[in-house]
Amino acid sequence: MAAGAATMRAIAVRPGVADSLHARDVRQPRVDDVSNGRGVLVRVLRMGLCGTDRDIIRAEYGQAPPGDDFLVIGHENLGEVVDVGPNVPPSIRPGGLVVSTVRRPGHSIYDLIGRQDITLDDVYYERGINLLHGYLSEWYVEDCAWVVPLGPALSSVGVLLEPTSIAEKGIGQAYALQRRLPLWRPERGLVIGAGTIGLLAALVLRLRGLDVTVYSRRPGPYLNSELAEAIGARYESSSLRPLADVAREQGPFDIAFEASGFSPLAWAAADVLGKNGVLVLSSVTGGARTAEIPSDHINEGFVLGNKVMVGTVNASREDFERGANDQLLAEALYPGWLERLLTTPINGLADPAAVLRALEDQHTIKAHVEIAAPSGKGAR
Ligand code: BGC
Repeated sequence: MAAGAATMRAIAVRPGVADSLHARDVRQPRVDDVSNGRGVLVRVLRMGLCGTDRDIIRAEYGQAPPGDDFLVIGHENLGEVVDVGPNVPPSIRPGGLVVSTVRRPGHSIYDLIGRQDITLDDVYYERGINLLHGYLSEWYVEDCAWVVPLGPALSSVGVLLEPTSIAEKGIGQAYALQRRLPLWRPERGLVIGAGTIGLLAALVLRLRGLDVTVYSRRPGPYLNSELAEAIGARYESSSLRPLADVAREQGPFDIAFEASGFSPLAWAAADVLGKNGVLVLSSVTGGARTAEIPSDHINEGFVLGNKVMVGTVNASREDFERGANDQLLAEALYPGWLERLLTTPINGLADPAAVLRALEDQHTIKAHVEIAAPSGKGAR
C-alpha cells in the first residue's frame, strides 16, 4: 500500500491457508481507479454470505489477485452510490442503491459480449471468489457496465439479489431451452433443496404461476419449510418420502431445479422429470462423490420423453435486472417474505470470527453483514 493512501476496513483470507480469515486495512478505492470516466464508487451497506464463502474460508476454493497474498471476500453485495465518473449513465447516480455482478470478462467470445457467465475459459475472474477482490469492505469501485441500479424499495432485501440472479439464470435458461417445443405451458415445478437458492428458485417459479413442490432433507415444520409454504409451495422431506413417491403424487414435473448441493439428487430428479421436461442443475459439487443410478431407466426416460438437462452457473446482468423486478413483485405479493430469509445478521467488519460462526450455524438461511445504513439521499 502506498504511504499516505487512505485506507478502509475489509475482511479477507489468505487463499489456500486454513483459519486465515481476518480483518485488515486496505487501500480505499477512488472513482477514477476505473478508466474512461466509467467508475462508480459505492459505499457498501449489506453483504450476504454463502456456501462459496464458507469454502473459501475453509481454504478449499478461491485465489488471490495477482501480486497480493490475500483475497477480500464477499460477492453478495448491496450498496449506495457515492460518486460517479463523467461517462456513467444517468440511471446510476449518487444516493441510489446498486448491486454489482460477480464475474468479469476473461477472453472467450462470450466474455467479449458481456456474457462471461457462459465463458469458455477455464479461469474465472469473480469478485470475492477468484483473482479479484470482493466487496466485504467499506467501499468499492466498479465499471458501470457491471453495476445494476435498484429502486429504494429494495433497500434491505436487495442484498438477496445476487442469489436471486442465480435462480433467475437457471430458470431463464430452462425457458429458453423449452422454446424448442412448439408450445410449452409448464404447470408443475420441483425444487430440490430448501436453502437460499432453492427457496428463491421456488419463489421465481411461483411468480411464473407454477404449482411448486420443494423437496429437502429435514422434516418440516421448520423455518425453511414454512417459507416454502408461505409462497404457496408444498414442502416434502426426503427423510420421510422417496422422490419417486412425491413425483407420483405431485408430478409430472415440467421443470425441476436442483439446488441441494448433493449430486445423487441430480440423478433422482432426472429419474422423475416429466415428458418434455427440463432439469436445471445448479449445485457446485466440488467433492468426488460417486453414486449408483438406474441408468437405463433415466436414459430411456430422457429419450422416449424428449427431456433436457442443463447446468447453470453465475448470472448475467439481465438476470440481475430480472431478479430486481421479481423482488419487487415478491414484495407486493408476499410482503416480508424475502426479509425472513435474512436469518443471521452480523454487525460490522470488526469480528471476522462471527462470519464463520454464522455460516456454520445450522439455523442460518442467509447470513449477512450490516456495514452501513442508507443515507436516505436516494429515496424518491
Ligand atoms: C456465486 C456465483 C459463482 C459461483 C462459482 C457462487 O456462489 O454466486 O456467482 O459463479 O459461486 O464460483
